[in-house]
Amino acid sequence: MQQPIAREEIEAALRGHTADYVEVRIEENAATRIAYRGRDLEDIGRTTNLGGNVRALYRGAWGFVSFNDLSDLRSKVEAAVSQARVAGTERSQLAPVPAVVDVVTPFIQKDPRGVPLADKKRVLDEYNDLIWTTPKIQTSVIGYADTWKSVIFASTEGSYLDQSKVDVTLRVSAVARHDGDVQQAGFSVGRLGDYGFVEQQHQAVQEAANRAVELLSAPAVQGGEYVVVLDPILAGVFCHEAFGHLSESDFVYENPRMREIMVLGKRFGPAILNIVDGAAVPGLRGSFRYDDEGTPTRRSDLIREGVLVGRLHSRETAGKMGEQPTGNARAIDYRFPPIVRMTNTFIEPGTTSFADMIADIQEGVYARNWYGGQTSMEMFTFSAGEAYMIRNGKVAEMLRPVVLTGNVFDTLQRVDAIGNDLDMNQGGGCGKHGQSPLPVSNGSPHIRISRCLVGGR
Ligand SMILES: [Zn+2]
Repeated sequence: MQQPIAREEIEAALRGHTADYVEVRIEENAATRIAYRGRDLEDIGRTTNLGGNVRALYRGAWGFVSFNDLSDLRSKVEAAVSQARVAGTERSQLAPVPAVVDVVTPFIQKDPRGVPLADKKRVLDEYNDLIWTTPKIQTSVIGYADTWKSVIFASTEGSYLDQSKVDVTLRVSAVARHDGDVQQAGFSVGRLGDYGFVEQQHQAVQEAANRAVELLSAPAVQGGEYVVVLDPILAGVFCHEAFGHLSESDFVYENPRMREIMVLGKRFGPAILNIVDGAAVPGLRGSFRYDDEGTPTRRSDLIREGVLVGRLHSRETAGKMGEQPTGNARAIDYRFPPIVRMTNTFIEPGTTSFADMIADIQEGVYARNWYGGQTSMEMFTFSAGEAYMIRNGKVAEMLRPVVLTGNVFDTLQRVDAIGNDLDMNQGGGCGKHGQSPLPVSNGSPHIRISRCLVGGR
């Protein structure tokens, strides 16, 4: 990136402070958005931002100042330090990380910045036409965004990092209506550093429109407990939403009940179950080299052979809990301090084929795709975007969307088969403490749960 501020100036502003630790982030970003609601183009445009922040730590308390005007960085450092000094009464506990100086160039396959806005709009127009020429369609929702971001990070420990990345997302939804009955189907997809996939969704768009229409005549599930098979998307979102957030150490640290539950070494599932998170897994939307505290990223085992073996940390949570930092401190942009977040979270593949997984199911439910849901501590309620009965070992009739409800720990214990078909879901964004949507990915192979409560929506 064209440096908006010289390295010497940043390093000079960090010298001679009276805090335990100070860091500066300077960010330049540019985003393109196109959104349709029905036939109406709701939003089209490009925004750019330049800004930064200073975060200072003194006796366990943080001061944080964000700004758009990059001049007089020194006074911003002083403001953050004096905030921290007012509040600090304990002991600063940052787990040590090596000081690093590095430039990380973006991972790019097809750069969206090289594609004219008119071309982007044209492909979305094609998708809208596909949806609208499908009979019984009432409306459509299409959202496209690409975000280029370049961040400089410098700390009083001597780290100086310059990292850039490009994030691209597309979501498409079709709504069908007949005699007052409304059904919707859609999908979200995304890539790190690649626009190419945006142009290749014609078939997926047509299938979503067709599925919305088919749902109008689909039966509702008979509510009850079933053997449930989750597809990679729904299992991946389950892994992120129901389990992953409980692995974020700030949450564990602050909740006495979670500290009792999330005990390292405790069995959480069968020996075939392995769950990992890691920005060091390359080429995904949650991938990067250093987190927003300059910690080198890695791949962290959360559950290994069914046993809880790790959790996600910032330097502070690692310091307070006496564990290793994992490179999971992330800020959505320069207006926010980094907090503990997931990156790429997934269930590792096993050995079972999908055909074998359903072969001995007399009556079960095959739930696919994510529609929505919520979690409250260990309880979850998820809506699948698509569902089918499984009868006598075969996928049978399509159902109206179903809701899965349960306790995450009971559900993990009931995972009794893990597929060999890992797929990463890159359409999602994660929200936490007002920072949303943060680019993440999640994934899984097909998984089978021996017993789960299924209801209609
Ligand atoms: Zn999330």
